[in-house]
Amino acid sequence: MKPPVFTYHACRTVEEAAGLLSSSEEAKVISGGQSLVPMMNLRLANPAHLVDLNSIPGLDRIEAGAGNLTIGATARQHDVERSAAVTSAAPLIAAALAHVGHPQIRNRGTVVGSICHADPAAEMPAVFTTLGGHVTAQSASGMRTIAAEDFFDSYLTTALEPNEIATSVTFNTPNGSSGWYFEEVARRHGDFAIIGVVALVTLSDGVISDARLTVFGGGATAIRIAAAEQLLVGTAAGDVDDNLLSRAASATSEALRPSDDIHASADYRRHVAGVLITRGIRTSLERATTPA
Ligand SMILES: Cc1cc2nc3c(=O)[nH]c(=O)nc-3n(C[C@H](O)[C@H](O)[C@H](O)COP(=O)(O)OP(=O)(O)OC[C@H]3O[C@@H](n4cnc5c(N)ncnc54)[C@H](O)[C@@H]3O)c2cc1C
Repeated sequence: MKPPVFTYHACRTVEEAAGLLSSSEEAKVISGGQSLVPMMNLRLANPAHLVDLNSIPGLDRIEAGAGNLTIGATARQHDVERSAAVTSAAPLIAAALAHVGHPQIRNRGTVVGSICHADPAAEMPAVFTTLGGHVTAQSASGMRTIAAEDFFDSYLTTALEPNEIATSVTFNTPNGSSGWYFEEVARRHGDFAIIGVVALVTLSDGVISDARLTVFGGGATAIRIAAAEQLLVGTAAGDVDDNLLSRAASATSEALRPSDDIHASADYRRHVAGVLITRGIRTSLERATTPA
């Protein structure tokens, strides 16, 4: 199917793009086009103006800072996956990107576009929810930052206003005493996840000082499982036993309200999320205690 008629704008500056977005309610940003164009072809989106960011110099930056990593709006998923700055500062991001579609998709799709698109079964929103950080948003009236925990509202819905451009996403990066885990269950490699888990566990003197456990594909957004996280924080790594893991799995299954669909039942999603959470805690602890 072909998309509806639209006017295409190849912008040269963020200000030009922000001006176009402010001048029409029918304008939409296009980055990689790997979600927006299929939606247009299916008539699920019908923007009169496409505001293309790809010709704006400097928006494709990938920059490691002190305790964070900033990815610009037009940095391709493939380039982020292969970036030495990313694999060194936040290997979790690179590992998760390997599950996003196929190489052809990642050659065009952007990390920031994926986060703005906010598919609840997508990998990057779940990683952003786990690591934390902020989105930098620019409109004709100025710039603001939106914290990761305030960014995702619901299915395909974020805190971005229609006239705002996410110029970059900054991820917090874990320190040397942290371990991570990423896994998802999908029908075929490259499909969106039926259910997935991202974990990040940080130790201080052998005791879990921070635990971030996120499930995606189990609701309207990726969600952190506070009840399971609370079971871990304050526990010595050596005291994490089968009993504690089983309680974390139950807390996870109980926290989820997934739906039945053609891919899997809600019960299956709840069960697998619990299994992946126990693996996530174990693997994260192993990584946190193994010298890099
Ligand atoms: C066959 C196929 C398989 C796929 N499989 C997966 C998968 O397994 N996992 C996965 O996560 N994704 C998957 N995708 C989607 C892919 O990752 C997209 O690239 C991504 O979701 C959106 O990024 P994009 O840069 O292409 O955004 P676009 O398609 O250009 O935009 C998507 C939406 O975000 C908005 N947007 C984009 N960038 C910005 C910005 N900078 N500021 C404000 N709004 C913005 C757009 O207006 C639009 O509403 C798949 C796509 C295809 C076609």
